[in-house]
Amino acid sequence: MNKYGKVFIVGAGPGDPDLITVKALKALQQAEIILYDRLANKELLSCAPPGVVSIYCGKVPGAHAMQQEHINEALVQYAKQGKTVVRLKGGDPFVFGRGSEEAAALAEENIPFEIVPGVTSAIGAAAASGIPLTHRGSAASFACITGSRCHNARSPIRWDLLAHSVDTLAIYMGVSQLPFIREELMKHGKSPSTPAALIENGTTARQRTIVTTLDDMHNSATISRLDNPALIIIGEVVNVRAQLQYAACRAAASLIS
Ligand code: SAH
Repeated sequence: MNKYGKVFIVGAGPGDPDLITVKALKALQQAEIILYDRLANKELLSCAPPGVVSIYCGKVPGAHAMQQEHINEALVQYAKQGKTVVRLKGGDPFVFGRGSEEAAALAEENIPFEIVPGVTSAIGAAAASGIPLTHRGSAASFACITGSRCHNARSPIRWDLLAHSVDTLAIYMGVSQLPFIREELMKHGKSPSTPAALIENGTTARQRTIVTTLDDMHNSATISRLDNPALIIIGEVVNVRAQLQYAACRAAASLIS
């Protein structure tokens, strides 16, 4: 019998610390080591017991504070020392989160681990902006897409299919690719007047929601100096926001303190 610890690969939710799950909170409360990402709300670290060791593994677009292989290796090593480790990641760990690569590294070493899902940012940011991803009559499907693989020739994103076969497009990591995404979707027949929303810092007190159109989304982003992290939502559902007259009313005080 080995004395390995356990690794919890935990979704921290989309930004608002109150959107973490009870299960994730319980994992944090028993953590001895936390390895956390840039997009995981730092306030959550205060839920861990005193004496916990917190290690920042943040990734700024284009630059990595800690290489993925080093993160995998650190998870393995701490677990081999018998520690209870929480790998805290923004949103959901299995949605563009590389949580599955970390899980694979642990599985290979026979280290016990558990995946704790989180509210992914498309779901969180859309809800906090009053935009339903599906809506009876206008959207029966949605897709989560990465914008960061736009120019990957070996496995390109099928914008030709996405333009026609999915009602709502939720695009992660797409801010720097807005001109390309706009062009691809319009080239493949998506109407330039399709409503679009750009949601920056979704679910946080700094959330900004910019409502625009497919045709104008790049201009709108430039004018409003859209910054990361931001999500792009494209589809008729964006119009529902006005229908709901949604004024995001998030309590300033966090439930978790
Ligand atoms: N695992 C995460 C996604 C990581 S990829 C999840 O499930 O949400 C990083 C991208 O997520 C960012 O580039 C941005 O597109 C999106 N994102 C994360 N947090 C966000 C937030 N609070 N508001 C808007 N977009 C966010």
